[in-house]
Amino acid sequence: MPEHDVLVIGAGLAGMRAALAASRAGADTALVTKVHPVRSHSNAAQGGINAALTDRGDDWEDHAFNTVKGSDWLGDQDAIEVMCREAGDAIIELEHMGVVFNRDEEGRLGTRRFGGQERARTFFVADITGQAMLQVLYEKVLKARVRAYEEWFVTSLAMEDGVCQGVVALELRTGQLHLIKAKAVILATGGAGRVYEPTTNGLIVTGDGMALAYRAGAPLMDMEMVQYHPTTLKGNGVLITEAARGEGAYLLNAKGERFMERYAPKMMELASRDVVSRAEQTEINEGRGVDGCVLLDLRHLGRELIETKLGYIKEVVTDFLSIDLADRPIPIRPGNHYIMGGIKTDVQGATPVPGLYAAGECACVSVHGGNRLGANSLLDTIIFGRRAGEAAAAYAREMDRPSISESIIAKTQEEMSSFLARDANGDSAAKIRLTMGQVMTDHVAVFRDEAGMQIALKTVRELKARYACLAVQDKGRVFNTSMLFTLELGFMLDVAEVSCVSALARKESRGAHYRTDLPERDDVNWLKHSLVYASPEGPRIDSAPVTITQWPPQRRVY
Ligand SMILES: Cc1cc2nc3c(=O)[nH]c(=O)nc-3n(C[C@H](O)[C@H](O)[C@H](O)COP(=O)(O)OP(=O)(O)OC[C@H]3O[C@@H](n4cnc5c(N)ncnc54)[C@H](O)[C@@H]3O)c2cc1C
Repeated sequence: MPEHDVLVIGAGLAGMRAALAASRAGADTALVTKVHPVRSHSNAAQGGINAALTDRGDDWEDHAFNTVKGSDWLGDQDAIEVMCREAGDAIIELEHMGVVFNRDEEGRLGTRRFGGQERARTFFVADITGQAMLQVLYEKVLKARVRAYEEWFVTSLAMEDGVCQGVVALELRTGQLHLIKAKAVILATGGAGRVYEPTTNGLIVTGDGMALAYRAGAPLMDMEMVQYHPTTLKGNGVLITEAARGEGAYLLNAKGERFMERYAPKMMELASRDVVSRAEQTEINEGRGVDGCVLLDLRHLGRELIETKLGYIKEVVTDFLSIDLADRPIPIRPGNHYIMGGIKTDVQGATPVPGLYAAGECACVSVHGGNRLGANSLLDTIIFGRRAGEAAAAYAREMDRPSISESIIAKTQEEMSSFLARDANGDSAAKIRLTMGQVMTDHVAVFRDEAGMQIALKTVRELKARYACLAVQDKGRVFNTSMLFTLELGFMLDVAEVSCVSALARKESRGAHYRTDLPERDDVNWLKHSLVYASPEGPRIDSAPVTITQWPPQRRVY
């Protein structure tokens, strides 16, 4: 039976950085991933990664303040300070590892502007930053001889007396269930975008780690905070990177007006994402949109800049819309993109469950609060991935070998057997998944209100009841993707329910959580995190204080 000191679930940027750190700290480390490591969703990250480098007179405290303001004061300022203070060294380290960041005319590492920040501090590799970083980290992980269980799907955490001692995982190639024992487990399973339909996130982004931790007793924090990105393509939700606006693209309404003048006169198109998305949705709702969209205009940037710095999105727009970005504006609208909430951790990645750590998009440390600044997520994965790896290795050094028995597999085996044993009843995972995605998009999106969120919660609970009666029609063992999609759907329904419960509980508007029935921020009653725990009666809501170090709440204008 496989056994390791530190087991990292997820081989995206957070997982690979964590594995590298744990391995460098001397721990016997392994990765488990449901897809090949370089197919992890970090691969899709386009625009860049933030850091305040002092060689150009930038200052980490300025980055931290922009992040606090971007978070609408819900981010924990101690964690934000850690992330922004350590960012510069992390960029240099990535460069030394081999990430070929773009350079400026003077040969220094080049930057571009991203939203919600006063100055250009986003380092980038054209518009394929995530891919470039992921490839380099993969090489490092291979070189460190970290074992990778590729195409293994974690179905549950192996818990003994409230302590995490490993995972139960399905080997997709054989259909066999395994217990992998570990002294410490790090969840780095990414976000939950597919709970919504459409989304910028790939099919594999199904909130697995959040649900795994929740089911094992860990609280999920601020799950109502879901980011809508201002520039996604109509229909398919494909992302057009914020770097387009960072390079100077305009947003126009049907009358050809740069409407951001009315909503964020100072920062215009580069206000924070929640502000820009609300502005776009208001233009569309009030009849100044173009066929349910607004327009993104890059023509004035010129063909050369588009081709050299935004080549990937140029290709995407040509493929999907047959539009040349240098000739015509493109229709875009706000689209589901990122979840600020996640598994509650401290700045070492430790969750309240002993032996369980989390990092990256599945975690909530919390540096993004009510709204994440563009290019702060890659930074989050690198900083807190490393910290979680180091902390888990230190924890593992103090622990005895896990005592958990293989009999723990039986529960997952029973669940899978009952999906296989049932007769088809006309329902399917695909139908449930689509209804869930649509109801979340209709009622828990850019604008929300009590009545809509109640509809969403009721629908999700009905879908959970249908899920309990589902049959998996493919009875085979080898690469049974029907079984995989079904188990993922179970995770997504838990995440959707928790997001609805948290959103209903927060009786104010803050960051991405904008309630038309309660449009003001309420610092007296709601300057606090929402926490949700699993209980036999369903989700139990609680709260935790926000850490304020040096930036007391202010009015948030851009
Ligand atoms: C289109 C797009 C563009 C973006 N651009 C930027 C950007 O420019 N800058 C920025 O800062 N952020 C950007 N983001 C956000 C950022 O890319 C992500 O938040 C970040 O990469 C998430 O990394 P991660 O390591 O947490 O998870 P991922 O990279 O999503 O990795 C998750 C890993 O977990 C594994 N996994 C999941 N569930 C299981 C399971 N049950 N069993 C086994 N393995 C499992 C997967 O196989 C995968 O290896 C972008 C996001 C999108 C969607």
